[in-house]
Amino acid sequence: MKQPLSYCQRCGVPPGSALDLNAIDANDTGPFSSKKQGRKALKQLRSRLVELQERFYAWDKRSLLIVLQAMDTGGKDGAIEHVMSGVNPQGVRVHSFKVPTANELAHDYLWRVHKVAPRRRMIGIFNRSHYEDVLVVRVHNLAPSQVWQQRYEQINAFEELLHAGGTTILKFYLHISKDEQARRLQARLDDPNKHWKFSKGDLKERLLWDDYMAAYTDALSRCSTEQAPWYVIPANHKWYRNLVIANILVETLQSLDPQYPLPEDDLAGIVVQ
Ligand code: ADP
Repeated sequence: MKQPLSYCQRCGVPPGSALDLNAIDANDTGPFSSKKQGRKALKQLRSRLVELQERFYAWDKRSLLIVLQAMDTGGKDGAIEHVMSGVNPQGVRVHSFKVPTANELAHDYLWRVHKVAPRRRMIGIFNRSHYEDVLVVRVHNLAPSQVWQQRYEQINAFEELLHAGGTTILKFYLHISKDEQARRLQARLDDPNKHWKFSKGDLKERLLWDDYMAAYTDALSRCSTEQAPWYVIPANHKWYRNLVIANILVETLQSLDPQYPLPEDDLAGIVVQ
């Protein structure tokens, strides 16, 4: 019997492939027919994730870097909250990359990123990342095209360096449709408790949707490598988005097979007084 595809295989962007984001259904819910079913599966996965993260931390042999990118309202914050809930916060650091400060701009664009790359045993989550330097920078002409064009190769070299230094890298693009973005922006306008999340700037960015899709297509196809793969996560259904990310994390951590370190001595004869 043919084995079903793993989530890594199902969502991974094959290195060197031509990516067509329009051909990927943002509404996909895989084999799940209901949210209830999906939520139950996520609960089990989260317990497994908690267990694996504890081993990973104790093992102290590698670090894990999770890069999250999405259009506005794509669900980066929600994915972090729902997938990582229950994981020991001591082993996880989230970094959000905003418009660079004057000091950051006075350095090369990878400086602020490399500084916060996760140390051994840690899981680092990037909420936006160095990919902004080939996304927003390209769409808004914040740097000449000769400058950002070189960045794909620079990013691949940078991620190869991190990987060689012991960092496992997973990059998730949360794929929502333009209609779904409209619904989510409207929901933010309609609910006073969500007004703080609404920015008029998001409406301006929305007008540039096609430019962003072109920029994402290039970034994902040119920078998906064996050591640092991109995954396109169908994200119109939040519960399925969380489930897919959790699956890929569990599959990846399982394949690393982290082990508890051996005790210093034979502990059998030790008596606690
Ligand atoms: P988020 O949308 O991630 O919740 P914000 O609303 O504060 O957070 O938005 C962060 C902004 O910073 C985004 O508009 C993003 O495009 C911008 N940004 C991040 N990195 C860069 C960069 N390297 N150059 C220019 N703008 C950037």
